[in-house]
Formats: sequence, C-alpha cells, structure tokens
Amino acid sequence: MQAELLLHPQWIVPVDAAASILTDHSLAVSGGRIRALLPTAEARAHIRAAQEIELPGHVLIPGLINAHTHSPMVLLRGLADDLPLMTWLNQHIWPAEQRWAEPEFVRAGTRLAALEMLKSGTICFNDMYFFAEVTAKAAADIGMRAVAGMILVDFPTRFAETPEEYLRKGLALHDRYRDHALICTAFAPHAPYSVSDGPFERIRTLSNELDVPVHIHLHETHDEVVQSLRDHGERPLARLERLGLLGPNLVAVHMTQLEAAEIAAVAHANAHVVHCPESNLKLAAGFCPAARLLAAGVNVALGTDGAASNNDLDMMGELRTAALLGKGVADSPAALPAYTALRMATLNGARALGIDAETGSLETGKSADMVALDLRDPDTQPVYNPVSQVVYAAGRDQVQQVWVAGRHLIRDGEPTTLDPAAILDEARVWGARIAASQ
Ligand SMILES: [Zn+2]
Repeated sequence: MQAELLLHPQWIVPVDAAASILTDHSLAVSGGRIRALLPTAEARAHIRAAQEIELPGHVLIPGLINAHTHSPMVLLRGLADDLPLMTWLNQHIWPAEQRWAEPEFVRAGTRLAALEMLKSGTICFNDMYFFAEVTAKAAADIGMRAVAGMILVDFPTRFAETPEEYLRKGLALHDRYRDHALICTAFAPHAPYSVSDGPFERIRTLSNELDVPVHIHLHETHDEVVQSLRDHGERPLARLERLGLLGPNLVAVHMTQLEAAEIAAVAHANAHVVHCPESNLKLAAGFCPAARLLAAGVNVALGTDGAASNNDLDMMGELRTAALLGKGVADSPAALPAYTALRMATLNGARALGIDAETGSLETGKSADMVALDLRDPDTQPVYNPVSQVVYAAGRDQVQQVWVAGRHLIRDGEPTTLDPAAILDEARVWGARIAASQ
C-alpha cells in the first residue's frame, strides 16, 4: 500500500466509540484522509510512504475543536476585566467594537487568534463575529477549519444596520462557502436579549431549509433569565422552544442556568450544548451542569469563548478546567473522566457543528486532522495513561505537530502557513491604537 504520510507515534488516542488507547500503532494518510490505523510492525512491512515521521514519546490525538469563540476579540484581550457580563458588554466591549470592529481589525485579530489556536492544537473554531467573511477567508488561507457565524443582533453596528441586512450578508457568506473543504457556516443570533422574535423566526425557517446550525449564547447568566421572564414572561429556552428553535440544529452556548426539566427538554430535542468553563468562571456567570447534561444524553462540546472573557484561546487549558470543574460541580471525582473531557474537545464539537463525518476522531476515511503532543517533558513524565497526561498534566507547550486535512500546519512547534513576526507587529499596532483611545 502507498501513502503520502505515515506516522509512528508511541500512542494513538482515536476518540472512537470504544474509547481506545492504541500503543505501537501507526497512522497512514493519503489525499488528506486517514487511510489506515494499524500495528506499527505491519505498517513498516506493508506501507510505502512518501514521508515517514517517527514520534517517540508522543501521543497522537484528533485535532481540538473550539466550539465557541469570537476570534477577532483577541485584540481586546485584557481591555476590561473583573466585571459582570452586562457591565463588561454594555460599557466596554460593545463601545470598543462600535469604534474598532471593521474588516482590517477582524483580519488582524483572526490571524493572531489562529496562530494561538493552532499552536495549542486547535484545528477548527466555531466563530461568532462581525465581518465573518474576513475570518472565513483568513482561516481558509491558513488552512484551518472554521465555522463562520452569520451573526445577527437587533441593533446597528459597523457591519450591518438592520436584522434584514445581517441576514442578507450572512446568506451571501453561506452561498460563497457552500462547497468549501474547510469552511462552513452557522446562523449566529447573538443571544435572546439581543435578538427579537421576528429575526428568530426567520432564522428558524432558514436553518430548517438549509440544515445549518444555530449558534447562540443561551442561559449564560441568572440576570439573562430574570430579564427574559420580565420582558417575555418566559425563560429564554422556553422562548426559543416556542419560536421553534429547540431542535437538533441548536448549538446552545454556556447553559449555566438549567432546571431539571430543561435538561430533559434539551436532551429530547437532540440539541447541543457548548460548555465554556473559563469564561463562565471569569464572569462568575454560573456553572454549566456538564456531567448531568452528558448523563441525560446531551452532546456537550467545549469552547473558550472570546479572549476578552477567558483570556486565552487555549483548548488544552479549557480541557483541564472542564474536567476539574465538572468534578467540583457534580461533587464527584468520577464525573467527567479524562477520556470524556477529550471527547468533548474533539468529537462532540464536530457533532455539534455537523461535521463529525469529516473530523473529530482518528478513524479511517476521516480528514487527517491530528495533533501530536510530546510527553517526554518533565511535566508529563512518567506516562501510565497518555489520556490522563493530555488532560491533567500537559499544556499547550507539549503541542508539537498539527495537521489539518493532512497538511502540516505546525511543525516542531512552529507554524508553516503563518508569519508570527508580522502577526505580532499588526497586533501591537492595533493594541497601541485602541489603548490610546481609552
Ligand atoms: Zn461568547
């Protein structure tokens, strides 16, 4: 058998249904896809590869999927901290965005975010931001996967004046990337408190027609629920259900405020939840009952949220926080075991975004979206269980190699399609400009 690329890592964690951990196995790639996963002795005997890479002491995992972020917001990292959500949004973030969020800001921010994400093992991000066409193009140029959000808010921004204009621009983006190998789209109504019923109904119809996810902040804080009860006489989830949006296309981000009946309703609807533990902790938004949702059969993915409320885009860190917090919230050390946390950061993200036939696990036929972590550092020695090391001990420094669709995007810790010096120069210029205006 011929292959373009043959990897010989010490361990492979495919994140398959059997929760396997493979030792002395190799992985062959051709045409950007995983062609075989087989014992190394067999691979060495039978596979002729154009490129063969030895990875002693490394564990190979599926590329991480950041299921909720606002990538250009890296340029606002650290601008306003230690504030509650509504003060942070209304008095700091939205005014800064009204002033600065234009295509050049989005381009520079996306590139900085992509550099940080790739270097920490993230191969795909689900984005919600203005000028998503700029983010989509930047990701495609870099060779990363992205889900570009067709954002909608009721109020005018530099991007669009009315809900109709947001939708029109979003649908044009959807059409442009309809058959793209790396980029897809999702509706991204910002939140129940920033979108009214009319636009939600339009999005429901379009989402059903096009079978596209609806990515929304939902039940993020107690105040959001109280405000919805006051303004609409119902909780946000009940309102979305009334509007026909609670279904398998719903990607509900945060979900820190949930009653038992709501967990059952989300499970029954086959809706997806994206848990963003560090953002929730930083804004003291509350705790997503991730273990209870999983036990109810809900698909729970993992996201960092934007860097202005985290303040990094490090999915390795998020993975560890999710596992630790999950135990604390469930009052059980058995809650959210390491393999489950890794599944949330990979396959569950792909399922939420509707791309699990393509990515999310290392299985024959799927895209070769892979990360190799070097566990030979003092921080991760000795190794009894590589999944335990990945979740509880490793960090983004251990990420050494990243491939997306078989393309080597991080080689020995360094990007191959991005120029870090140029990206950092741009980020410094933006930072100085924004700081001068404060
Ligand atoms: Zn967010």
